[in-house]
Amino acid sequence: MATVDGHGCDARLEASVRSFPELLLQVGESLHATLVVDAQGQIGRIDSRLAVAAGWGDGVPPEGRSLEEVLQLFPWLVDALHTALSGTETVSEGGERERWMRALVLPVFGNEGQCLGACARLSERAPAKPGPAHQEFLEQELTRTQRQYEDLLNTIDGIVWEADVNFRFTFVNKQSERLLGHPPRQWIQDPDFWKKHVHPEDREWAQAYCMKASRERRPYEFEYRMLAADGRVVWLRSIVTVLSEEERPLKLRGIMVDVTEQRMAREKLEQTASVLRATFDSIADGVVVVDRNMRITAFNKRFQQLWQLPDEVLEAGTNTEKPLAAALHLVKDPERFAARIREVYAIPDMEDVDTVVLADGRTLERTTRPQWMGNTIIGRIWSYRDVTAEHQAREKLEQTVSLLRATFDSIADGVIVVGSDRKITTFNQRFQRIWRFSDTVRLENLDALEAVTAAAPLVKDPERFISQLREAFVLSDREAVDTVELRDGRILERTTMPQRMGDTIIGRIWSYRDVTEERLAKAEQERLFVAERRVRAQLEESLAVLDIFLNNAPIGLAFLDRDLRFIHLNDALATLHGNTREQELGLALRDLAPHIAAKVEPLMRQVLATGKPIIGLGMALEVPATPGQLRHWRVSYYPVRTTSGRRVGVGAVVVEVTAEHRAQLERERLLHEAREAIQTRDDFLCVASHELKTPLTPLKLHLQRLQKKSASGQPLPPDFADKALVQVDRLSGLISDMLDASQLEAGRLELEHEPLPLQEVIHEALEAFRPVSLQHPLEYEEQCTEALVIQGDRERLVQVLSHLLENARKYSPLKGPIRVTLTRNGAEAVVSVSDRGIGIPADQQAHLFERFFRARNAPISGFGGLGLGLYICRHLIERHGGRIWAESQNGLGTTFRFTLPVEPAPPLHGRA
Ligand code: ADP
Repeated sequence: MATVDGHGCDARLEASVRSFPELLLQVGESLHATLVVDAQGQIGRIDSRLAVAAGWGDGVPPEGRSLEEVLQLFPWLVDALHTALSGTETVSEGGERERWMRALVLPVFGNEGQCLGACARLSERAPAKPGPAHQEFLEQELTRTQRQYEDLLNTIDGIVWEADVNFRFTFVNKQSERLLGHPPRQWIQDPDFWKKHVHPEDREWAQAYCMKASRERRPYEFEYRMLAADGRVVWLRSIVTVLSEEERPLKLRGIMVDVTEQRMAREKLEQTASVLRATFDSIADGVVVVDRNMRITAFNKRFQQLWQLPDEVLEAGTNTEKPLAAALHLVKDPERFAARIREVYAIPDMEDVDTVVLADGRTLERTTRPQWMGNTIIGRIWSYRDVTAEHQAREKLEQTVSLLRATFDSIADGVIVVGSDRKITTFNQRFQRIWRFSDTVRLENLDALEAVTAAAPLVKDPERFISQLREAFVLSDREAVDTVELRDGRILERTTMPQRMGDTIIGRIWSYRDVTEERLAKAEQERLFVAERRVRAQLEESLAVLDIFLNNAPIGLAFLDRDLRFIHLNDALATLHGNTREQELGLALRDLAPHIAAKVEPLMRQVLATGKPIIGLGMALEVPATPGQLRHWRVSYYPVRTTSGRRVGVGAVVVEVTAEHRAQLERERLLHEAREAIQTRDDFLCVASHELKTPLTPLKLHLQRLQKKSASGQPLPPDFADKALVQVDRLSGLISDMLDASQLEAGRLELEHEPLPLQEVIHEALEAFRPVSLQHPLEYEEQCTEALVIQGDRERLVQVLSHLLENARKYSPLKGPIRVTLTRNGAEAVVSVSDRGIGIPADQQAHLFERFFRARNAPISGFGGLGLGLYICRHLIERHGGRIWAESQNGLGTTFRFTLPVEPAPPLHGRA
């Protein structure tokens, strides 16, 4: 507790117990003192008779006034009192003749040796007269006084004693035995009595303290404990006066008063005070206590903090105006604040509570009440509490409540809250609307069941509705959601739950929501959902079918989006790219087969851009599935549109036409060949008819001349028949060639093989040829020594040689020589027939051995042929296991060579 000075609080508290030093009064009482004054010379107690004698008998109390003021009529007594207050006891006399008074005036000392005041005991007597009678009177008086004094000592409620400076008692009054149980005799006889009976805890310091005070020869007063004969501990206050002589302490005199009870009371008081002090300091409220003179008597730290007051503003006994002025600037509305305080001070017993808002936003709750002592108001207590947080919390709560209220009113649910007594505590407008209550109807405090029953006719099944409500009231902690159908078609969803405060159910909340639209929408949604599911199932079915067709179609099919990525495609198409369809989905052709994309993507883009399909475009492409193979395709691209016409991609159809393409080529080739064959046939017919007709004309002439000659009997010229026969031979040769060619063609030409010496065959042919080619020198050269035997058909081999010789003759119009050679080349015999005739154009040599071939330089008439000779020769040689070819230079001549396999030579002895 902060106090106005170090002992301020004690002083104040003690002041509440007594206003005059207790000890002084006690001593005064013990001495039956007529007059007691305190150290300041104020009258504490005065005998009424003396007061009247001093002129204070008219009801004005002299207590509390200065002795000078009260004892103006007794200046001698005033002097004696001043002497005693300065520490010296004195006996003084004075007064008027008829009323002479004598005073024994004693100083009274406090704990610390300080003078507490003085006590005077007055007695009335005759004025003193000098002389022996007077001496005797004085002695009698002294004896009487001594006796009186002894009686007095024994009646004093304390141990009056006298001792030497070593605390050996020389006198103790009888109270010593009463208080401590030790008889005075024991005190005086035992020189160490005091030391022995001081409480061990006090012994040392008390002795030291007394010794020191004695040495210093000053009166002192202290409290300590002594041990009574029965073992009790007795607290004593000892007031000691040191009597000295020639500046040496001589004797000690004193009084020991039992203060055990006081001490206990004080300790208790101190304890109470300390508890109060601690409480005062620890409470959250800032408290200031002000006396009736508006001076601060106490305040706590919290008060100082709250008002931010420096120490000097709250000094001891400061008038409250000072701290008030210092704190005023903190208050938001200082004028009102100060006015309220003044109002309170004006009415001493007023109790008041107020709220003070500070400029910094804090809110203080101020409480003030008077401070009572018994029935007297001795001051006022002001207490300030910082309620800012509380205030804010309340504001927030109010805000929340208003927000909740607004929400409650604005929600779409109709809500009603019913207390445990079944009375409606709250409801919102929506509830009223839903249940068709008029806005003017006040539902608060109505019986909920009655109110809802009133609305029951709106419900389709009112009985069930009401019985459900009753049930809900019985089962009070039930939570439920159900539906209530109204007659007008509305459907309400009802939720009910208990209203709880903490764990206690204090009522029930009913909430109704109009879910008509919601339910209808839900039903519609469900209907749509079912329809959609059906459509989807159909769609899935169609897609499955489509997928089957798509995937099993023998042609490539695909759907590409606007970025030309595959959205659908079949395996037939994916396989061409060397992938499966799963691998290609979502990819673009340019990523899969760039060289194909380069050709087809521009086409697809064109389709997307124009919206016009490209149908049946032929294309030759290699595909990754068959690298290095050019395949033929017919591709079509179609724009794919949504029903709204938006182009979403391209459909591609790819059909392979490689086989058709080949067939077409083959057809074209065959047609060409057929045309050529027809041409050849036509040429042949033309040539053949010409060739056949050529010998017939002279033959007919010869036969007509023969007919004429034989009719006229003229002799026939000898070469006549020969010439005719030449023509017949020529005809027969032509026809043989035609026959052979047709047999060869039909595979019906038979050969008769036999071992033949080739030389013989050559000789036979040369011999037959010589006569018909007299104009051409014929040479034969054989470059082998042995006979070359072959397996062959003699006649046919002679036919081959004859034909080659005939050609050499025919195509050598300048009658150039014809040369025949026979050589052996390993197992083959090589026969050549050379001429120096017209030769064969280089570009035509390859066709020499084809049917009906005639070189372009072959003359048309004269020695023309059918173009069958070399054809027949090739077949015959090849049937003999040989080969035939020609070497020719246009205009310089031709050499035909053919080979025949030679039979191995027979063993030598076989030839012999
Ligand atoms: P043809 O009966 O027309 O002679 P060949 O089959 O014997 O029929 O000969 C075919 C063609 O070969 C002849 O029409 C001729 O143009 C050419 N031919 C054949 N032998 C010779 C040759 N020795 N010199 C030049 N051309 C020749």
